[in-house]
Amino acid sequence: MKAPYIMTPGPTQVHEKVRMAMAKEATNSDLDPSFFEFYKESCNNLKKLFNTKNDTLILGGEGILGLEAACASLIEPGDRVLIIDNGIFGKGFADFAKIYGGQVEVYKDDYRKAIDIDKLEEFLEKDHDFKLATLVHCETPSGITNPVDEIAPLLNKYGIISVVDSVSSIGGETIKVDEWAMDIVISGSQKCISSPPGLTFISISEKAWDAILNRETPIASYYCNLAIWKDWYENKWFPYTPPTNHIYGNDIALERIIEEGTYVERHKKIAEGVRYAIQSSGLELYPLNGYSNTVSTILIPEGVDFNKIFDRMLKEHNIMIAGAFDYLADKVIRIGHMGENCYEEKLYKTLKALDETLKFLGVNIKGNIHEHFVGKLS
Ligand SMILES: *Cc1c(COP(=O)(O)O)cnc(C)c1O
Repeated sequence: MKAPYIMTPGPTQVHEKVRMAMAKEATNSDLDPSFFEFYKESCNNLKKLFNTKNDTLILGGEGILGLEAACASLIEPGDRVLIIDNGIFGKGFADFAKIYGGQVEVYKDDYRKAIDIDKLEEFLEKDHDFKLATLVHCETPSGITNPVDEIAPLLNKYGIISVVDSVSSIGGETIKVDEWAMDIVISGSQKCISSPPGLTFISISEKAWDAILNRETPIASYYCNLAIWKDWYENKWFPYTPPTNHIYGNDIALERIIEEGTYVERHKKIAEGVRYAIQSSGLELYPLNGYSNTVSTILIPEGVDFNKIFDRMLKEHNIMIAGAFDYLADKVIRIGHMGENCYEEKLYKTLKALDETLKFLGVNIKGNIHEHFVGKLS
């Protein structure tokens, strides 16, 4: 049985060169001097994608590890934490903040729109006494990209440390960590970077390091403690054994992106094509603005069951698309056009299968979804 063609918003397809690199001879990362240099070079490749000079680490664990590690390392009991919330991941930060004793204030905005910067500014004018604020660059379940280029500088103006979940945006959308004064930025391997799940990437500004290293109370975790990574290179010491072969593969994935150079334009063009095709065929996108260039979220037409769409896509076409969870469960389908998924022929194949599937299930589609897509791109 041929492996399904995964067109989900993470995990994404993994290029053969990445898979081959993962099969390299393993080493002992604690003793092999060349591995320290390799790890450092790989972090430098990440810095190029993040557009930062800040310390950047590769940690062995899912994107969630990065989110929790940022909260564990920064938050002391009683610290005021602003949770900027316009979606499932945004809201989820509150749970981590509470675990580590944060006094949480949730700033909630419209779940179908990008964060409104003017409203946020109005709120902050009245109350800005927060140690840190958390936000999400791309809300993957709803397909909305927030204007971090405006939000991060605004937080910085008030001296608030920003913690940004960029798990599903780096490698697909523009991000300028230094220029936008972002403090902690988190990404992961299995979205736009397109290596298998299991790695977190995290960049840490001087301001964030200061807060982490000058706490009054100890950090209540070991695996989530970023302070133990501060001088890993000078000390030639990893706090725990890194997943060496995963990092080999991931580094090839990073090099593919860096060599291409124009990945942001590629994502934009494909995403615009997908949105145009969806809307031209009479279907409705979930977001009302702030459309993500890495994932499209489409409302399931009235009377159609998500499982029927998923099953037919998989059984008849061998293509896997995603639904969503939480309040979006059974309400939307999602196509991940991120990383290795984000090429014209792959979206053509996916939209053609979706066209057949929805028509089979009795949905009234104007024209052909895949042909609208091609029309827009040509
Ligand atoms: C995928 C993702 C994560 C990591 O979640 P996992 O459950 O580990 O896949 C975090 N934040 C966002 C916005 C994501 O899309």
